[in-house]
Amino acid sequence: MKAKAIVKITVCIVMTVMLLALTACVNQQNNENDPGQSLIDPTDKKDDTIELFAMDTYMTIKAFGNHAQPALQEAATRIHELELLWSVTNPDSEIYALNHGDGSTIEVNPATAEALSFASIMADRTDGAFDFTVYPVLAAWGFTTGSYQIPAQAELDILLERVGHEKVLIEGERVTLPKDTQIDLGAVAKGYTADIVTAILKKDGITSALIDLGGNIQVIGFKPDGSKWRVGIKDVYGEGNVGVLEAADCAVVSSGGYERYFVGADGKTYWHIIDPSTGAPADSGLVSVTVIGKDGRFCDALSTALFVMGLQKAEKHWRSYGDFGMILMTRDNELYITEGLEEDFTLDKSRADMAVHILRKSD
Ligand code: AMP
Ligand code: MG
Repeated sequence: MKAKAIVKITVCIVMTVMLLALTACVNQQNNENDPGQSLIDPTDKKDDTIELFAMDTYMTIKAFGNHAQPALQEAATRIHELELLWSVTNPDSEIYALNHGDGSTIEVNPATAEALSFASIMADRTDGAFDFTVYPVLAAWGFTTGSYQIPAQAELDILLERVGHEKVLIEGERVTLPKDTQIDLGAVAKGYTADIVTAILKKDGITSALIDLGGNIQVIGFKPDGSKWRVGIKDVYGEGNVGVLEAADCAVVSSGGYERYFVGADGKTYWHIIDPSTGAPADSGLVSVTVIGKDGRFCDALSTALFVMGLQKAEKHWRSYGDFGMILMTRDNELYITEGLEEDFTLDKSRADMAVHILRKSD
């Protein structure tokens, strides 16, 4: 099933990449019944869509309203700028410069400084379950190159000495990493980017839009017909969605082992989300986590962190902070949904047998 899924995803990505020739393109999506309609739409119901491949992700942004194209073009340009700043592999990126700076202090772009400060706050808040310095461990497993392997625990223990968000010194836009520390904004970059795209679209007066950056969905307002957006929550064990969440003016971000993984010679599945306390792929009993909240960056960092924490700690985190909603899927095929979301969530018919639990503050 998983091999099939990989083939499907690969075919889909290859086709998409061929189609887009790896470049951003803006299509005016006219009303299907009237493909010749012009850009100016007095009914304000037409959408402009931009599709691009960036940050290793196939992205689609759909904005409704008049003259959305300039805003979409600006968003695409900004996405590529951020990709260049934050790539871990591109020698021209700021993250690459920091990771290879041999302990020197580097002055970074305000966006990078802000993203790193935010990542530090989230690392603190999650007691290091989210830790953007986990990169050397990730590399040892081969997730950065695709040359997968299972490192010995002794090797991981040595690498873990280099991990720890508190080692990163951020003074305004001046950032210092100890010589052996390496960072990776992979768990927060797309959420952060979605926030920036949202701000660009809103600045240009767009009040209805869908920003889909892979597993990161962000919606502005409602659909033009006044209804909520329907966001599919991927079924880890099935082909389609476990259910659909109706959402407006928020971010819906999922983390899951299904996104990138390999099966070791021992037959076990190892995925790309690392538990910084062990150096191994998180083995918390959760197979997918979706966080619903106001900001993409916040939901993105948190979905990764809660995936590492597991059901009990995630629930405790929700009870202590209460500033987000979540949908957790466990290895045992159970779904946990925080109160309030159940009204907007519809379980897929194919999963009608699934046990769904509502987490309530009063319990
Ligand atoms: P996400 O899909 O947002 O959950 O992010 C997963 C990506 O974040 C991985 O591919 C790694 O690049 C990075 N990562 C893995 N584990 C962690 C962690 N515990 N904290 C922060 N980033 C991580
Ligand atoms: Mg994340």
